[in-house]
Amino acid sequence: MQIPPPTPRQMYWNRALLNTFWLVLFVYLASQFYVTLSMWSHQPEFSGKQHLIMHILIPDSILFILLVILESIHRYKPVLSEFLILLTSHLYGILIILNLSSDYHVKPLIMLFPLLVSMVYLKENYLKASSVICLFYIIILFLNTSIYDFTLRIQNIIITLIFAAVSLTGFAVIARGKELMRSLESSVKSEQELRIQNIIMDRLSKIDPLTDLYNHKTFHEYLGWLIDHQESNPFPMQLAVIDIDNFKKVNDQYGHWVGDIVLRQVAAVMLQHIDSDDFAARYGGEEFVIILTSKTLEDSSRIMENILAGIASLPISEMDNESVTVSIGMHEYNGGDSKSSIFQQADDALYEAKKTGKNKIITL
Ligand code: GH3
Ligand code: MG
Ligand code: MG
Repeated sequence: MQIPPPTPRQMYWNRALLNTFWLVLFVYLASQFYVTLSMWSHQPEFSGKQHLIMHILIPDSILFILLVILESIHRYKPVLSEFLILLTSHLYGILIILNLSSDYHVKPLIMLFPLLVSMVYLKENYLKASSVICLFYIIILFLNTSIYDFTLRIQNIIITLIFAAVSLTGFAVIARGKELMRSLESSVKSEQELRIQNIIMDRLSKIDPLTDLYNHKTFHEYLGWLIDHQESNPFPMQLAVIDIDNFKKVNDQYGHWVGDIVLRQVAAVMLQHIDSDDFAARYGGEEFVIILTSKTLEDSSRIMENILAGIASLPISEMDNESVTVSIGMHEYNGGDSKSSIFQQADDALYEAKKTGKNKIITL
């Protein structure tokens, strides 16, 4: 079975648990030193060389080596990290218990540590496995207790009840955690859907659905925004108004559906020739506008001539490979122009182009 690589969140929790393991080791070490020092003169068996080697040096080194191995697995083979952290939590508990004298009757409670670690991952299987291991441990505990030692047996029963309560609470915590995760996932999903909806709505409100160019409203907003910026940071800007010549005839001769195809193809030619910092919109009907920025009038005129020629030489298969032509009126922004005056002058230029034969560019 292929184990999926851990997610960043899983890596985060693996790291947090590893840090906890280090902390437990340091607390354990500190408590051992405290016990050794405080018993130095009173109980020599706690401070002898034999005790130091057997009960401090060897077990602590094993715990340390276990942690170093876990650290390298976390770094180089993170896919195994989660399972091995769980396993180590049991080894940790068992090693500490084995190292403690059997006089300490509360020491089995150390096995709550692996039980708690398995809850962190919110996986029932981990908690089930840990509960089974703890159950074995408790059975061994009872087998090792003399049937005549009633106090110890009662203590063991109390410890068993604590284990059962922690384990059952753990399953409840996992169920609750999963429920929260599900509701979080569904709210994240609906938030994403809402965002996508917003993007679509935003696009629909800005784009002309037939030609995919910007619409009339967006043109006015953008032109107003550019003119506002001209005051603080002047830059060259030209406005071109483009109108398809004799478009009514196209509709009359070939039908409106062909007229629509012509509108789309004319728009595509415009997009082919303008730069990324230029702006093309369908003003309405068979009329378009292009705002050219950061270019000299000569460069912008060249672009518009290419558009004029490109449209005139584009055969439209639905029109028996005939082409349409456009007339273009152009005006370059000069400091004093308002939004309506710049448009008016480009429109006057277009009128002039229509009046003087169509299929041409007039710049005013
Ligand atoms: P001119 O050369 O003077 O511009 O003549 P024209 O025929 O192009 O201009 P006119 O204003 O007389 O006709 C424009 C036509 O454009 C009339 C209208 O039916 C057509 N039209 C406007 N919007 C659409 C559209 O979305 N689709 C189609 N197929 N036709 C449209
Ligand atoms: Mg027209
Ligand atoms: Mg028109």
